[in-house]
Formats: sequence, C-alpha cells, structure tokens
Amino acid sequence: EKCVVAVDGPSGSGKSTVSRRLATRVDGVYLDTGAMYRAVTWAVLQAGADLNDPDAIAKIVLETELSIGTDPAAPHFAANGTNVDAPIRGVEVTQAVSAVAAVPAVRKHLVSLQQAIIAAHPRIIVEGRDIASVVAPDADLKVYLTASSAARAARRSAEDASDVAATEADLARRDKLDSTRKTDPLKLADDAVEVDTTGIGIDEVVAYVLNLLNS
Ligand code: C5P
Repeated sequence: EKCVVAVDGPSGSGKSTVSRRLATRVDGVYLDTGAMYRAVTWAVLQAGADLNDPDAIAKIVLETELSIGTDPAAPHFAANGTNVDAPIRGVEVTQAVSAVAAVPAVRKHLVSLQQAIIAAHPRIIVEGRDIASVVAPDADLKVYLTASSAARAARRSAEDASDVAATEADLARRDKLDSTRKTDPLKLADDAVEVDTTGIGIDEVVAYVLNLLNS
C-alpha cells in the first residue's frame, strides 16, 4: 500500500531525525530534499558561479548529476561523482543555499526529481519545506514540525559543535530568506498537523506521528 508522509519545518525542528526514524519504523525510504538543495549549492560553489546571477545558477544546477541516497540508515549524496555528505553541512553551503533555492528554475528541476523518487517508492518519508504544499500535495500524512528558536539553535549546535548564539542568528537569517522568497515561500499547508517539538524527546515525537499514521 502506498504511503507518503510529508515532514516539513524549519532547520533544527527535529525533522531529519524524526523522518529517518519514521522511515525505519514503517520499513520505507527517506528523502531529504534539503540535502538536494545543499548538494546543488555545493556544485554551484564548486563551479564558481555568481550567486547573484540566477541564470548562471540554473545552468549549473541543471547540468549537475545528483546521486540521492534514500536509505534512512545511510542517506549518502554525491554530485558529479563526488561524495558531498560532509561539505553540504559546512558553513559555505549553508550560507549560500537559500540564494540557490530561491531560483525558480532550480526549484522546478528539484521538485520534478523529488516527485519521480516519490512515485518510484511505495513507502517514503519526505522531509523539506514545501513537501505538503508543492511536492506531494496528495501525501497520506502531512506533519509540520516546529520548535522555539532557542531549542532549534541548541539542537543544531549540538550536531555541529557551533556556537549557539551564532547558530540562532543564522537560523533566523535563513528562515527570513526562505519565508519571504517569491517562489514557494515556506508556509504551513492547511491540512498539515503541527507538532511543536520544544522540550519533547524525539522518541515521543516519532510515537505521536506513528500514531497519526495508524489512525
Ligand atoms: O532543511 P535544510 O536546512 O537542510 O535546508 C537547507 C535549505 O534548503 C533551506 O534553508 C531552504 O533554503 C532550502 N530548502 C528548500 N526547499 C526544501 C528544502 C530545503 O527551499 N524543500
């Protein structure tokens, strides 16, 4: 039976951990759409493109060959044959990704790749920002994870050992760019279930979502 779950939310809301655990629990695959935007951003930086030139960005992104891992235990990514698991989490990519993700041709291209992957997998947990609204409006379950900005920054800096205050400022900067861009701004789908993960353990969030899925 086909089962598509959309998990949207800002960085640090717990969506990656929750999505990977859910995929394992339902014996399905996992698609990290943020990692796709990050991988093409890596390719754009690698090519030395001007981040203020949407046409140049789009050209490189359309030429980039992506390898997209969907195993929730080991979701490896490669761009043009190079493994990018480490650099896509680095500060350079994180700084540039919102600009690349704002280019309409980039979104169009990645959304169609995402839709093809979803169509090919009967059970899939898809995490991102626009999954419920744009990529998979017919998803069986739509979850929107939130958390206070302090909780999100604390989680993110625990992951990458960065300074909490600097991380909180960077998350605020990206949220603003992502929610005010002209194409597909980050927004809550009407039929999404909002789950505030502030102060709640991952296990509890996973159990709650599994319960929604089975009800
Ligand atoms: O979730 P993550 O922090 O990895 O996403 C990185 C960036 O990719 C976001 O800040 C946003 O600019 C972009 N993104 C997007 N649409 C998605 C997923 C991510 O625009 N579905």
